[in-house]
Amino acid sequence: MCGVLGLFRTRPVSTDLVEGLIALQHRGQDSAGIITSDITFHLKKGNGTAGTVFNEKNLARLTGNIGIGHVRYPTAGPGSDEDAQPFYVNSPFGIATAFSGNLTNYFKLRRELTKRDFRQLTSFSDAEPILNVFADELGKTNLDKFSPESVFRAVKGTFRRVKGAYSVVALIQNKGMLAFRDPYGIKPLAFARQGPEFMFASESVAFNRLGFARFRDVEPGEAVFIDTRRRVHSKQVLPAKLQPCIFEYVYFARPDSVLDRIEVYEARLRLGEKLAAEVARHHVHPDLVVPIPDTARAAANSLARALNVELREGLIKNRYIFRTFIMPGQKKRMFSVRQKLNPVRSQIKGKDVLLVDDSIVRGTTSKEIVQMVREAGARKVYLAITAPPLRHPCVYGVDMMTRGEFVAKRHSVQKIQQLVGADALVYQTYDGLVKAVRGKETGRRFCTACFTGTYPTGITNKDLIRMERERRKWTNQ
Ligand code: SF4
Repeated sequence: MCGVLGLFRTRPVSTDLVEGLIALQHRGQDSAGIITSDITFHLKKGNGTAGTVFNEKNLARLTGNIGIGHVRYPTAGPGSDEDAQPFYVNSPFGIATAFSGNLTNYFKLRRELTKRDFRQLTSFSDAEPILNVFADELGKTNLDKFSPESVFRAVKGTFRRVKGAYSVVALIQNKGMLAFRDPYGIKPLAFARQGPEFMFASESVAFNRLGFARFRDVEPGEAVFIDTRRRVHSKQVLPAKLQPCIFEYVYFARPDSVLDRIEVYEARLRLGEKLAAEVARHHVHPDLVVPIPDTARAAANSLARALNVELREGLIKNRYIFRTFIMPGQKKRMFSVRQKLNPVRSQIKGKDVLLVDDSIVRGTTSKEIVQMVREAGARKVYLAITAPPLRHPCVYGVDMMTRGEFVAKRHSVQKIQQLVGADALVYQTYDGLVKAVRGKETGRRFCTACFTGTYPTGITNKDLIRMERERRKWTNQ
């Protein structure tokens, strides 16, 4: 998924960028990076969280009132130091970009750029092709007569060549700051302005942190360019076909964010209410509702209220362990479940417990948790999931990219219940998911491809097989 930031202030931005990245840290802990600009670019990036990559010494070097930042979640590439963002190219002008998403024509672009355009790529990150395509497109404009229109033409050319999901923030040296979002708006991106200062961020929570009170979404297919005289230019470069990732509301985004005018926390409350109706329909009657922290907490709350059952924090999370789903590799995931969660025996013992979680991908995490709660003395362990069964790979930047990894692809709900060892398993319905996330935004469409197999950008089965092969080659999975 990744998190991106752009900041243009009337004072140096490096420490504020770190603050903003910390607010977006849940979007990826694999690497962090910042590039600022004054008379030249100043870059610091590396593997690890924002807190580990940046220190007083390297921040002092990141001078300038304008900059962009990135936290990385590994989706493309082997995840080495070289894949950390932002990236920059020297020509034209000097351009730096940070990107959230995943390119579905990555290898094609890579071949075009290296073999046809003789550009040198230094990593396996799909951020680099998008930067080079944009640079190439900007280079085709009349550089002596640079204007916002040149930028918008280059963005249009980029939209034409790049396929997939992408929200991009960029610096063009001595020209300004730019942001654009793919025509489906699959990844979130928002824009805030406060007097002469400007900010872009993947999630609104970063605006709150840096004191920007008002914001709006960058529309799908839109580009926003702020020139060095702090004038805002925006253009709907391609028609918007908004279909944001529905999984952001279920799992990924922070509950205190607002994405595309929908409050994540409210959406999760509604998910809980809808799920409560399903639990009742399945005649599951727990003594206690226990959220699996953190993502499912809001939904568990409203579910418990709707069922008139007490909610207890029966599982405590060690907050110094990363989210299991976000960690690549099966071994790491299994190891970290018991490291991350511990049951509160006094609350669970002798009770019929309904655990509430956000999703089941492989089923191994759920199995560990159900077993842990049983070992803590629960009489019965039920499991309710705020999302419907995940069955299809995400090609847009969430780390569930291979068809074989979904337990629900291969097994019925009844069989999954057996596999995870629960006394009952209740999933959200697809209708329930969409209605709950929509709320008052009736008619809103979403990317729901991992539930339905219908991809907004028209991915075919052949494409899925190709992407899976490429990914396997990189990760040796
Ligand atoms: S496939 Fe699923 S996780 Fe991926 S962007 Fe679409 S809704 Fe989000």
